[in-house]
Amino acid sequence: ALTGLVPRLVEEADARGVLPPRRADSHKGTYGHVLVVAGSRGKTGAAAMAARSALRSGAGLVSVATRAEVVDTVLSFAPELMGIPLEASGPLGLADLEPLLAAAEGKDALVIGPGIPRGPETGKLIAELLARVEAPVVLDADALNAVATDLSALRGAKRQVVLTPHPGEMARLTGRSTKEVQAHRLELAREFAMEHGVTLVLKGTRTLTVSADGDLYINPTGNPGMATGGTGDVLSGICGAFLAQGFQVPDAIWAAVYVHGLAGDLAAGKRGKVGLIATDLIKGLCDVWTRWD
Ligand code: AMP
Ligand code: MG
Repeated sequence: ALTGLVPRLVEEADARGVLPPRRADSHKGTYGHVLVVAGSRGKTGAAAMAARSALRSGAGLVSVATRAEVVDTVLSFAPELMGIPLEASGPLGLADLEPLLAAAEGKDALVIGPGIPRGPETGKLIAELLARVEAPVVLDADALNAVATDLSALRGAKRQVVLTPHPGEMARLTGRSTKEVQAHRLELAREFAMEHGVTLVLKGTRTLTVSADGDLYINPTGNPGMATGGTGDVLSGICGAFLAQGFQVPDAIWAAVYVHGLAGDLAAGKRGKVGLIATDLIKGLCDVWTRWD
């Protein structure tokens, strides 16, 4: 049953090698524009952390599409961000399709999920977006729970799709218990990625990245200080920034996972694991970049 399940352990030089040096003659257009679809009342921080992490991971521009009533709150966390107010109300649904398609125009990567208001139509909305958006898409958090009800949306995508579930979200995607997921991480992740043609990140200690071809990458960075709210939102932002810069899957994604864990390790070195919070990871990103400069 373990045929083909030979994972590669990602090393620092591998991850560093995915990121080309910034060229002297480059400009913000060189580094891509990320659209983050995230946040809702009471969850503006999730949107802000994903978007700020994309800014801190080299994206040229980052825009956030979120409910109109919270867009200014999200932007208040970082003046570098741009906001796209979604004027409908309640959970994300088909009423948001046209505004989101317009927002996705010209973007180089989308991140959908952190803190979104999820309802009965959210899965349909995401299926339509995947079928029509001309950029790679990262699905995280409630976007994963929304597509879990109809996984055929994943195969219908125009461009690459990346899923970043924690074990609980993976359980919902596969219809298994979290315990089963954790007992069979490699097999289940590989089966899912290959069946649905996606790059899958199964988070947790030794996060696993699987390509749509079934290649497995094990991540050695990260620490239990990262078991705190918002750290997953940071990862989705890093993934979006790397894709917007044109790094290809799966390398862009196992490199993002490595960087995220290293940022967590450097942050834990300064603050200790107990006190570590997700925004420390965003600061830790800059320690990764200075270490690699
Ligand atoms: P989320 O549950 O979506 O906020 O994601 C949590 C993030 O923190 C993931 O990237 C996990 O891999 C990471 N994380 C949580 N607990 C640990 C741990 N004990 N060791 C390493 N990484 C962890
Ligand atoms: Mg999460």
